Amino acid sequence: MSEVTREAMEYDVVIVGAGPAGLSAAIRLKQLDASLDVVVLEKGSEVGAHILSGAVLDPSGLTRLMPDWKEKGAPLNVPVKEDNFYVLGEGGQIRLPNFIMPPLMNNHGNYIVSMGNVCRWMAEQAEELGVEIFPGMACSELVYHDDGSLKGVVAGVFGLEADGTIGENTEPGMELHGKYVFLSEGVRGSLSKEVIAKYNLDAGCDVPKFGLGMKEIWEVDPDKHNEGEVTHTMGWPLGFKNSGGSFVYHLDKNQVYVGYIIDLNYKNPHLFPYMEFQRFKHHPKIAKLLEGGKRISYGARAVTKGGFQSIPEVSFPGGALLGCSAGLVNLPRIKGNHNAMHSGIEAAEAAHAAIKDGRSGDRLEAYDIALKTGVVGKDLKRVRNVAPLNGKFGPLGGLALGGFDMWAQTILRVSPFGTVKHGKTDAQSTGKASDYAPIDYPKPDGKLSFDRLTNVSYSFTNHEESQPAHLHLKDASIPISVNLKDYAEPAQRYCPAGVYEVVEEDGKDPRFVINFQNCVHCKTCDIKDPSQNITWVTPQGGDGPNYPNM
Ligand SMILES: Cc1cc2nc3c(=O)[nH]c(=O)nc-3n(C[C@H](O)[C@H](O)[C@H](O)COP(=O)(O)OP(=O)(O)OC[C@H]3O[C@@H](n4cnc5c(N)ncnc54)[C@H](O)[C@@H]3O)c2cc1C
Ligand code: SF4
Repeated sequence: MSEVTREAMEYDVVIVGAGPAGLSAAIRLKQLDASLDVVVLEKGSEVGAHILSGAVLDPSGLTRLMPDWKEKGAPLNVPVKEDNFYVLGEGGQIRLPNFIMPPLMNNHGNYIVSMGNVCRWMAEQAEELGVEIFPGMACSELVYHDDGSLKGVVAGVFGLEADGTIGENTEPGMELHGKYVFLSEGVRGSLSKEVIAKYNLDAGCDVPKFGLGMKEIWEVDPDKHNEGEVTHTMGWPLGFKNSGGSFVYHLDKNQVYVGYIIDLNYKNPHLFPYMEFQRFKHHPKIAKLLEGGKRISYGARAVTKGGFQSIPEVSFPGGALLGCSAGLVNLPRIKGNHNAMHSGIEAAEAAHAAIKDGRSGDRLEAYDIALKTGVVGKDLKRVRNVAPLNGKFGPLGGLALGGFDMWAQTILRVSPFGTVKHGKTDAQSTGKASDYAPIDYPKPDGKLSFDRLTNVSYSFTNHEESQPAHLHLKDASIPISVNLKDYAEPAQRYCPAGVYEVVEEDGKDPRFVINFQNCVHCKTCDIKDPSQNITWVTPQGGDGPNYPNM
């Protein structure tokens, strides 16, 4: 498509992605100088449609951005009033007392929110300040200046033929050029991945690490609902060989967010993350809460967990990486929204200063420094060893050593471990199928647990079927010739939307099938495929999940 001639529009700053990072950047730019031309492009059908988070929000980023958010009606209506942490066994649980938890894990002062709704509200604030926001516009390509610096993006390509060629109904999209381009695509951004490789931004950092988060919204019996309650668990059903755990957040209106995050460094390729989540809901403690209730929404999204040592350089010629495109989640707190907002603010401040000085297209080094030495860097640095200790010693060893490390850093301001390295990528961590026993998962009962395709219909995902598949295989033979043979093709199980199937028919060779229409844009396949053969690219704008209030 790059040979096509397109119209171009010029902006001061072009922002890709209307998540908390991108919207914070847009708002801060306009607060600093109302005359700046700022555009935000979002692939979801509306702002919030692709946002999936827990979420317990630490409001520090929002307060820095808009100290009067309460008066302005921000949808932060449910303060956390109870914090619980349980280690689950199959039939029971042990509660870890709050006093042994490092203070940074305390949720006092935080809010249970729908980040989708927070982003919708932030978009209104941004528009009132004059930011142009275009939902339904996927940014599918980057465009560069002759000197190699980033010039802008291509957005709004529609109606390609199924083989990717241009047809009668193809709209070629347009180019949006900026003095600076902010990539705030969230975890494993497709354009962010391209710039990280092009400018070698990860040369000096550790490998990125990820988890897969799945979430359902439930409406429960009012007698069982406890607005403001936050519960986290580890242990059953995942056990203590793999890291991960659940979250159960009681928001308002008898709704409960029930979710499960599984670290993608798991070795056993037979593991089925979605079925682990479904099984979790049958634990007596959780089943008691959900029985008689109804699941009203489902979704999934990867989450970054590499932390401080995995942050790449965040500025490059002509732009910057914001939020989870740079991997800013604080793992033990399971929080990244506050850091996404702080990063947006800091990138905006650096770009505003540069534009005021007449600069454009260069590196915003001030942003790199602010991010790594400011509030975000400090938040992430003190928990930097939790993920690698989990990876090396498993969840129990990791809990003990990570907890010890966080306490040491709280009290002594120094880590006894220095900085622990992550080692392998999540794809490299996958072991051979023959070295592990298959896992027998109970069938969903249709009341507490659901089969994958039924649940995917509750993500309200939709992709125009006539377009090319947005899941590209570098080599179409690998899923069968390598992945099926060596790893029992784990894509069949790690995809939380059932996109990938191996079809085996009598007398025929097995076939790898990609049902791209079901994709919920979680990006797990791009991360976990052991052969690193799958590349996720944007489908046409507006396609994908339509989350109501995730
Ligand atoms: C299951 C789960 C639970 C979590 N729980 C919490 C929690 O309780 N508290 C907390 O603080 N954090 C939590 N997090 C982390 C938090 O959600 C992230 O840190 C946060 O979403 C990062 O914000 P962001 O703006 O960088 O990216 P996102 O919120 O992912 O937003 C990115 C936006 O960019 C859009 N986009 C991406 N690519 C393109 C493109 N090429 N063109 C156009 N648009 C594009 C996407 O559609 C999306 O709207 C959780 C994450 C998960 C997955
Ligand atoms: S195809 Fe990939 S990105 Fe889409 S839902 Fe499945 S694992 Fe996630």
